[in-house]
Amino acid sequence: MKRLNRRQFNRKSLATAAAGALSVSALPKTGSSAADTNKPSGWIDAHSHIWTRDLNNFPLAEGQTLKDLDPPSFTAEELIETAKAEGIDRVVLIQHHIFYGWDNSYMIGTARRYPGKFRVVGMVDDTTRHPDQVMRKLLKQRVTGFRITPRIRGKDKWLGGPGMAAMWRCAADTRQAMCCLIDSDDLAAVDAMCRKFPETPVIVDHFARIGVDGQIRDADVKRLCSLAKHKHTFVIVSAFYALGKKAPPYLDLVPMIRRVFEAFGPQRLMWASDAPYQLVGGHTYKASIRLVRDDLDFLSPADRTSLLRGTAEKLYFFDA
Ligand SMILES: [Zn+2]
Repeated sequence: MKRLNRRQFNRKSLATAAAGALSVSALPKTGSSAADTNKPSGWIDAHSHIWTRDLNNFPLAEGQTLKDLDPPSFTAEELIETAKAEGIDRVVLIQHHIFYGWDNSYMIGTARRYPGKFRVVGMVDDTTRHPDQVMRKLLKQRVTGFRITPRIRGKDKWLGGPGMAAMWRCAADTRQAMCCLIDSDDLAAVDAMCRKFPETPVIVDHFARIGVDGQIRDADVKRLCSLAKHKHTFVIVSAFYALGKKAPPYLDLVPMIRRVFEAFGPQRLMWASDAPYQLVGGHTYKASIRLVRDDLDFLSPADRTSLLRGTAEKLYFFDA
């Protein structure tokens, strides 16, 4: 991934914003359900990260310095600007464990400052006492999902232990989603958890990273699609910059997206950018939403609305 300095990056965001402004008139007007409930009518980005260089208020995790932030800055305000240009008015913020560890406060503070605009997928250390009590507390602070991943404790351990079980049990009650950052070889373990906790909402990020090595293997796609038999499973259609040929307009991903769509249906899929990673190295926010908004010709207008708003709205944008 090409590294941009801060000025280049900001220039790039502005260019993206300017280009996007031209297409705003082409966006659908308020949908009927939005009008009925008086909810925002723009799209939802179901997965983006943010970070700030304000280390006084939001210190980085141990061992991390300003030099590690790459791109160097992607604040809530930079995200809002980038998203607005493409008709997105709400975003789900995802905890960045490398930069912030278990400290969700930059995201929670952002969600508090912009009421209605954000929901948070936080992280809780499942090896501490009563992680489920922490989950319930965080729900009041707009944390409606939790990121879980084998990257911290390892593939053989990450789903084991009483704390993780308590989290899945709690999520079945609070409806906070278990958001899995996994590879395709972790799908079997997630499937086993879904059998054990059939009522827990479970979200798979970035197609379980199928295609990250450039190869989209049939067996992996089948394994992902077979998770659809559990009725509370969902897939995020995202991270196009990282999958398959890794080049816009990402049309080589369409056959996989279609198979996942056929397995899960529009009510269980949602688009996300995975910004700011989608904004560097020749990739843009516009190219990401364009694939789902303009290019997937097998979607009906209602399907598209589900992928770009409905599913994420239902799953994340509820109140405690
Ligand atoms: Zn991400």
